[in-house]
Amino acid sequence: MSFNDLGLTPELARAVAEQGYTTPTPIQRAAIPGVLAGRDVLGGAQTGTGKTAAFVLPILQKLATQSGRLPRALVLTPTRELAAQVAESARAYGRHVNLRTQVIFGGVSERPQIEALRNGCDLLVATPGRLLDLAERSLLDLGQVRCCVLDEADRMLDMGFIHAIRRILKLLPRERQMLMFSATYSADIRALAARSLREPLAIEVAPRSNAPAERIEQHVYRVPQEHKRDLLVELIVSGNWHQVLVFTRTKHGANRLTQGLVAGGVCAAAIHGNKSQAARTRALSDFKENRITALVATEVAARGLDIRELPHVVNFELPNVPEDYVHRIGRTARAGGSGSAISLVAPQEAPLLKDIERLLGHSLPVATLPHFTVNPPRRSAAPATPASATGGVPRTPVYRAEPRRHGRRPSPRGHGTQSALPRARRPG
Ligand code: AMP
Repeated sequence: MSFNDLGLTPELARAVAEQGYTTPTPIQRAAIPGVLAGRDVLGGAQTGTGKTAAFVLPILQKLATQSGRLPRALVLTPTRELAAQVAESARAYGRHVNLRTQVIFGGVSERPQIEALRNGCDLLVATPGRLLDLAERSLLDLGQVRCCVLDEADRMLDMGFIHAIRRILKLLPRERQMLMFSATYSADIRALAARSLREPLAIEVAPRSNAPAERIEQHVYRVPQEHKRDLLVELIVSGNWHQVLVFTRTKHGANRLTQGLVAGGVCAAAIHGNKSQAARTRALSDFKENRITALVATEVAARGLDIRELPHVVNFELPNVPEDYVHRIGRTARAGGSGSAISLVAPQEAPLLKDIERLLGHSLPVATLPHFTVNPPRRSAAPATPASATGGVPRTPVYRAEPRRHGRRPSPRGHGTQSALPRARRPG
């Protein structure tokens, strides 16, 4: 089956082909004809399945039949990064049709966004907070919206957007098409779907939430919390990793690990909710363009991020909610690619690992720890000997205070020169 068989116009099919996609993914095969036919849709889609194109393509096609200055389609997303990404996709898929896609989100000046809206907008992509703010101040008129998408609806609810969403839906015309995508189905999601969708076409392209893409090679390292950073540096440097997304549980933890990675010679930046939007945007683009090796992220900041051919995801700490494990590792092996997902599991995280394995329906293989040098904790005078860090191999970890030897520092892309000599590392 090709994109032409789905009833897309030649302009859209051409834009898709120019993106390099020849075959529609399962969610695209199921959703595109349904949306074109005007159906409401409830989509349960595994991350990285191509769901953005599944709703953006038919929406663009429907928008192209009329014109106007006010937004006629609205996509709500949980995060600013996802909003920017969806808008970017819409512009790429819509490059041969004369439509304007605008994106609005908080954390940046509203002025250019208001200006852009004044200049005319067909498809509007937004996060709920800023959207509601502009709409309630009459700087944005949603009265012409005929199609509304709730993307990553479960995450929007997790982030407390339910009230904003309800208020936004009240500002839309009653006669409208609603599409809702969610990776998981909690009672709240079901209630929202029941309230806002009319006889939806239910699309489930893969068993929900407990089935990460098969091409993700997953394994676990059992390692004490205080040795995780050194292990991660070792994995990145000796594995010649050039791009790794690392998840921490807290914003503070993300900052601390970023500093630790940089001290270990790995080019890294953090992305989380306490960073300014400018810093978040810069970190993400540096990461996508391979100017930094490691992007250290909290759950929320990384949700929905699409980084092409991302080869590695690391759970520096396991998430508290097992479903989040699936979302996190779904950042790799997207749309048919392959990737690795590694979890660093401290003894105190064993119950969290059990929960994840229960959700997945199988246990995760435990890999033998590589040899790595454990640095003493910062400002610690007398380091202990952490034998467990050697993965049971009888080896005393080497503590070194001298700076890294010349030539061992990885390049900004993380392609460090390799050597058989023991690694010298500055203490973290
Ligand atoms: P999404 O699930 O929408 O975030 O999409 C995940 C990735 O799949 C993105 O990089 C898309 O550009 C890509 N993609 C979307 N549709 C296709 C397709 N039909 N074939 C291959 N890749 C696709």
